[in-house]
Amino acid sequence: MTDVIKLLPDHVANQIAAGEVVQRPASVVKELLENAVDAKATLIKLIVKEGGKSLIQVIDNGQGMTQTDARFCFERHATSKISSADDLFDLHTKGFRGEALASIAAIAHVDLKTKTTQAELGSHIQIEGSTVVSQEVVAAPQGTSIAVKNLFFNVPARRKFLKSKQVEFRHILDEFHRIALVYPEIEFHLYHDGTELFKLLKANQRQRICHIFGSRMNERLVPVNEETEVVTISGFICKPEFAKKSRGEQFFFANDRFIKSPYLHHAVMAAFEGFIKPSTLPGYFLYLKVNPTSIDVNIHPTKTEVKFDDEQTLYAILRSAVKHSLGQFNVVPTLDFSHDPNMDTPYAYTQKRAVTPQVTVDRSFNPFSTDKGGNSVAGVIQQNGNEAWKELYKGLDSAVTKDFSRVEFESDTDQLETLFSADSEEAASGATVFQLKRKYVVSTLKSGMLIINQQRAHQRVLYERFLKDITIQQGMTQQLLFPIELQYSLAEISVLQEIRDSLIHMGFAIEIDGETIRFKGLPVLITEEKVTNLMDVLIADYKEGISADNISQAEILARSLSQNLSIKTGERLEKESQLALVHDLFACKDTVMSPFQRKIYTTISDTDIEKQLN
Ligand code: ADP
Ligand code: MG
Repeated sequence: MTDVIKLLPDHVANQIAAGEVVQRPASVVKELLENAVDAKATLIKLIVKEGGKSLIQVIDNGQGMTQTDARFCFERHATSKISSADDLFDLHTKGFRGEALASIAAIAHVDLKTKTTQAELGSHIQIEGSTVVSQEVVAAPQGTSIAVKNLFFNVPARRKFLKSKQVEFRHILDEFHRIALVYPEIEFHLYHDGTELFKLLKANQRQRICHIFGSRMNERLVPVNEETEVVTISGFICKPEFAKKSRGEQFFFANDRFIKSPYLHHAVMAAFEGFIKPSTLPGYFLYLKVNPTSIDVNIHPTKTEVKFDDEQTLYAILRSAVKHSLGQFNVVPTLDFSHDPNMDTPYAYTQKRAVTPQVTVDRSFNPFSTDKGGNSVAGVIQQNGNEAWKELYKGLDSAVTKDFSRVEFESDTDQLETLFSADSEEAASGATVFQLKRKYVVSTLKSGMLIINQQRAHQRVLYERFLKDITIQQGMTQQLLFPIELQYSLAEISVLQEIRDSLIHMGFAIEIDGETIRFKGLPVLITEEKVTNLMDVLIADYKEGISADNISQAEILARSLSQNLSIKTGERLEKESQLALVHDLFACKDTVMSPFQRKIYTTISDTDIEKQLN
């Protein structure tokens, strides 16, 4: 047999390595920004086009590179930052592997201009897929500019995997925030498609947070400071009353690197325990400094998980530091649980009009009525003269005109069964529904009974309603006498811009003005008290949904709203609401599964009962 092992040529090896370092445009942004920070820049500009797909450029005023280094920096394992393995245990730079530029150059068109302070002239190098296509001496300002164009041009499979430019840009924004939050002393600018999104001037830590997340942050922040032998903690937590249902303002940094740590997150949550509502998250910006030798550096550069030597001690210190701040700043005693923080100040108005929510329950409706004029849903709607009903059911005509006394669905044995009997005695009396354990609505059937999970059923009803509103653009608006103004960060605004049309279709009357959203009207199902929270959750769910699944914007939004606005387990329902729920559910296109793929109801047949009692 002949020898079969070959050494991969460098450009192939680089391309493979690139897969590890560069997952998406945001990975390039991270590496380039870190290099600029390592080069001691005081001003860093990030210029992005089309979510980074066509251009990512970082311009810094740092120390620059000599002509030789400029050529050399694209080689694998070329780094100025460590020279021996021992250095690994005392790192003070962001990079140290000398892999980033080689990896990026393997899968993109790279244009580098750089000049050191001492040099008269700078270097200009162009590389395409690891091949140097030009190298010249040019006049250049001090510092470095690296432009990365056409990412993954030679790896079509990866290019295809990229998400929309909005999604990619949001990942870029995350990286930008993570670095800008650590270096308030560095000025950062960010441009996307020609628009200046951030101009973060040199500031202190608190100001930097406010410049990024909006001035509303200032009143929310409470400082945290703790110095021990093991760790020094500094930074801020947000007051408990501003805890949100959504994620997004939770940041840990260890030795100036953003890290993710479910364990330390738990420590913060433990400190907040009892001070925030369940299922809400406090915001925090916490900077930990530990001895570099006590933190595992042998981790992948793109990963944000770390391993601390003494995690348990760290946990205890962190929890007590956060608790201490909550107490010291008198944050805790002023808390009033019955008080809804959404009502506090964020609205730019003081007088509130009491809004009567639009009642969507048809009180006279009885799905089991034998009255000829009223035994179809459509008949009841017209009889009742409730225009809202007609609106709500437009487009669901097939379901609406279905005779409700004969709603059919597939039974477990795959047989179609007639479930509702118009001539059953209980049905005629109308006394056929009741609530069980504040969780189920039970309805008697001709041949048994139907047990409906109230929360899932209502989610299904709302989901279809919102989905239809978005696609047919006919959500009804309840105009507000006093518009509500809410402030958002630029990242949130970019999400809101993206979903703006859907919001309008659902019935939101909104104007986006810089970092402010003015709500002039709301969909009928959404009350003023709910809107702040709802928007936070909507933004978070949208961000998550769009990057996780391949589902449409309309579905993500309808799903999020249905989850939030639905009747919950534990809620007591009046008889008419129970009836309306059964009725609404069986007017849905899909009555079997909730939008979250959970079964909505089960049936128990007479035969089952008889068997049991035999
Ligand atoms: P690492 O950062 O791990 O050293 P990189 O591939 O990111 O590896 O960069 C390789 C080398 O190129 C760095 O060690 C540094 O010497 C040089 N370099 C990269 N970017 C810059 C920059 N913006 N300014 C000055 N030098 C830079
Ligand atoms: Mg680097």
